[in-house]
Amino acid sequence: MAALFLVTLYEYSPHFYIAVVFTCFIVTAGLVLGWFGWDVPVILRNSEETQFNARVFKKQMRQVKNPFGLEISNPSSASITTGITLTTDCLEDSLLTCYWGCSVQKLYEALQKHIYCFQISTPQALEDALYSEYLYQEQYFIKKDSKEEIYCQLPKDTKIEDFGAVPRSRYPLVALLTFADEDDREIYDIISMVSIIHIPDKTYKLSCRILHQYLLLPQGQFYDLKQLFMSANNSTPPGSSSPEEDSADHSLLEKAGLSGSAADAPEESSKDCVVCQNGAVNWVLLPCRHTCLCDGCVRHFQRCPMCRQFVQESFALRSRKEPDKDKPKPL
Ligand SMILES: [Zn+2]
Ligand SMILES: [Zn+2]
Repeated sequence: MAALFLVTLYEYSPHFYIAVVFTCFIVTAGLVLGWFGWDVPVILRNSEETQFNARVFKKQMRQVKNPFGLEISNPSSASITTGITLTTDCLEDSLLTCYWGCSVQKLYEALQKHIYCFQISTPQALEDALYSEYLYQEQYFIKKDSKEEIYCQLPKDTKIEDFGAVPRSRYPLVALLTFADEDDREIYDIISMVSIIHIPDKTYKLSCRILHQYLLLPQGQFYDLKQLFMSANNSTPPGSSSPEEDSADHSLLEKAGLSGSAADAPEESSKDCVVCQNGAVNWVLLPCRHTCLCDGCVRHFQRCPMCRQFVQESFALRSRKEPDKDKPKPL
């Protein structure tokens, strides 16, 4: 159809035909350049070139001290029948409340309630928000700054051995950490932490793990605590005066809207950059959360050097103003 039109047009007036084709070419070229700028489209570049044309957007982060830490000790031995050992590491006296067989739907409704109506700052508040939709509850007192191992188990008389086939309506274990002393809520930006823990049983043998850890803020937000994947020789400073990116287990808070001035430095031992093998690892790439580049190398990468995922944003663990505390490294 278009070809027939062009032939007819050419027969009618060759000059007009050339003018039309030329105009079409100019318009198309204009659109392409407008879309990509003067850069070559990404798909046409080879990978080496990509590394030198990278633009990485720096994410604004705010530092928050997380007073709560909770890990699973020896996850391979945990099961519904034999119980689970949790290690807590809290900066203040706290209460650990374990809800076994907690309703998935009611838990997320409770987190929504935290946003809209009331703070979940005490075990009672969560209990009210859950409408007691759990099977068994137990509570422990956690002394501050002491790494305590707590053994939790469903009592035999509950006769619960599994939570049925997936998809499930109940989480095996939900652990809530709250301050024991009311006054501590004024000091910290985080008032409680909800950990959702999977524990294997007869029907669903997925290994024991923390599925989510939500940090609840007094203003009503809650954030999913995520782990960073550090490259190289990892010697995590345990329970240091940690910013959010680094609660006891090197995690970062995914911050949807919470932004502020760039973070101060968490004190960190220097780690080898995966590219130059010389600089201290300082940059967290998002969304993959690989932490593998130094200040010098980060600007050369549009894709993560470890997983090849495109870097959408990145942020520094240490701000540049602060001098690095790197020890000189023997070469
Ligand atoms: Zn480097
Ligand atoms: Zn990656």
